[in-house]
Amino acid sequence: MTFKRLIFNFILFCLFAIALCGRVAPGEEQVLKPSGDRRSSPPGSNGKVFKRAAFTMGSLMEITAYGDDDKRVDNAISKAFSEVKRLDNLMSNYKQDSELSRINREAVKGPTSCDPELIYVIEQSLLYSQITGGAFDITVYPIVNIWGFFGNPNGDIIGDIPAEKGLKGLLSAVSYKNIIIEDKDSNGHGNRGIKTIFFKNPLTQIDLGGIGKGYAVDRVSDILKKEGISSALINFAGNIYAFGSPPRRDEWIVGVRDPKDSQNVIATFKIKDKGVATSGNYERFFVKDGKQYSHIIDPRTGRPVEGVLSVTIMADNAITADALSTGVFVLGPDDGLKLIERLDNVEGIIISEDKDSHIMINTSEGFKELFD
Ligand code: AMP
Ligand code: MG
Repeated sequence: MTFKRLIFNFILFCLFAIALCGRVAPGEEQVLKPSGDRRSSPPGSNGKVFKRAAFTMGSLMEITAYGDDDKRVDNAISKAFSEVKRLDNLMSNYKQDSELSRINREAVKGPTSCDPELIYVIEQSLLYSQITGGAFDITVYPIVNIWGFFGNPNGDIIGDIPAEKGLKGLLSAVSYKNIIIEDKDSNGHGNRGIKTIFFKNPLTQIDLGGIGKGYAVDRVSDILKKEGISSALINFAGNIYAFGSPPRRDEWIVGVRDPKDSQNVIATFKIKDKGVATSGNYERFFVKDGKQYSHIIDPRTGRPVEGVLSVTIMADNAITADALSTGVFVLGPDDGLKLIERLDNVEGIIISEDKDSHIMINTSEGFKELFD
């Protein structure tokens, strides 16, 4: 092992150590590591490292940023965490008073005015539904719910296999085509710029679990940049955006974890100004009669996807990586890889398992060049 690789592995270890660190109470923030030593950095670099993490939107968000001005970086990170809190109040379907929960209650009754930012995230979701041929679909809510994947208020999943009849009865509610967004103007109500949302099927509801964290990571990186940070990596439960680079390096190094072993990394690769997201069957699941049922649903069947262990997508921003990692997970190794190769500036790794438990790793051409 070269010295360079040793150093990179140490950085990786730090990232994983942060991800695995003790639970933080919701909304509570934890300083994970004191600042580094400015004297160890060459002049001109943004020398000190700042790491902070908070449990928010049901997951751990970790921010690693470099800078010379303690106050400025600290202030920037605080603003970033406040932003995620704001977004949780917009997009959560756990909070009954969030804008999304209100829409989920009211949009079945008729066209309902909706916060423009939530409309934006929903419109982006519809775009990824089109790109993935319906594999990514935020109307999976009723199916995610009936399998028990939302979990109890503590986040524990006590899932069960739903009755066939109940499942079939929900399938017509699951289609992104059931979401109708219109300009309020077009209804003759005035209010230029305001849009309404309407669900055509009475059982349709939206779950932004497959795209919301990616969107939040993009907003957080915007805030950090606006506050003068030139080098940072945000990791929100496997949704990453990294910009700039650590001192004396040209890129950040991130790892793809072994889906069968959380302590093992199967590959490391370089990123700069890119979003990376991993969807894994190990994230939320339950086991029934020895069989594992995982949280990513095939909208066509209403059943958890089988055979795919993880999908890692790299794209120009975190929202794209997030939506596509979920969508490609549903498409599987063949169609998934075809889609990745068709899209500009998108690379991916699909790890799957056949019936004889043979592991297959499908990697897009462009990704191979980035391996460290
Ligand atoms: P991710 O970890 O980004 O792949 O998101 C997975 C989450 O997205 C699940 O826990 C569900 O809340 C939701 N989800 C499940 N299946 C789909 C799907 N086919 N399209 C969009 N979201 C989904
Ligand atoms: Mg996703």
